[in-house]
Amino acid sequence: MILKNQVAIVTGAGGGIGQAIAVALAAEGSHVWAWDVDGKRAAAVAAEIQSRGGQAFSEAVDVSQGEAVRAAVAGIYNKHGRIDILVNNAGICQVAAISDITESDWDRILAVNLKGTFLCSQAVMAIMKRQRSGKIINLGSVAGKVGGIAVGAHYSASKAAVMCFTKSLARDLAPFNVNVNAIAPGVIATDMTQTITGGDWAKYLETIPLGRIGMVEDVAHVAIFLASPRAGYLTGEIIDVNGGQLMD
Ligand code: NAP
Repeated sequence: MILKNQVAIVTGAGGGIGQAIAVALAAEGSHVWAWDVDGKRAAAVAAEIQSRGGQAFSEAVDVSQGEAVRAAVAGIYNKHGRIDILVNNAGICQVAAISDITESDWDRILAVNLKGTFLCSQAVMAIMKRQRSGKIINLGSVAGKVGGIAVGAHYSASKAAVMCFTKSLARDLAPFNVNVNAIAPGVIATDMTQTITGGDWAKYLETIPLGRIGMVEDVAHVAIFLASPRAGYLTGEIIDVNGGQLMD
């Protein structure tokens, strides 16, 4: 166990990549807080972790709501006296041509993906600075590098901004021994991509040199590395997990 007794928050942990990261962090000994906008899904993941002998808690937190985020972070800090790991995973996606994106679509995607990452990071950073330790891991996307292939421009723009924010935050927190990195997944099989592809993966497979769609565990393994002391000299880095779909 390389993360024994570390206190971790995973946002959007009710399913998909967030769930896999929460399960993996707990398997490495962390005390995991599974947050999700849907409290029942978060509770189910915490229960799954507990049934495997892990330490987990859950809370309904909408990451786009600053007051709720700050209150939830304060509650965790009061209980544990520290916060070691934050995984900004919560994200939403929409498939739409630019001409069809409404102002409210734009605001909603940016509010969850970008503002949510900012709000959660800002809420934990004073604690991590005081501790002079911490790991923040953000979820970017290949779409934020190439402009999006199947997804809307608002989603791609939000993920490009998350990856740039990762670098700004990494510079800000480096003097305090806090590492901030991002993972840029390619096509990973989750509810999100099921909705986008309608389950037709064939055209994506052609673009992936490793010849398979990614699994949530492929991302979780990298998150565990980034959360661990083994990644102590990495900061401001964006790690592609895309089967070779984009090599930059
Ligand atoms: P997912 O299956 O849709 O899971 C996202 C989770 O976030 C869901 O449980 C969702 O809850 C939750 N969520 C949505 N809005 C939220 C909010 N305002 N506050 C808190 N939680 C919220 O997505 P995924 O595929 O696992 O994606 C996880 C992250 O990886 C996202 O940031 C995504 O952009 C990124 N990513 C995914 C892929 C991929 O191929 N899957 C590729 C690149 C990047 P509900 O379902 O209840 O709404």
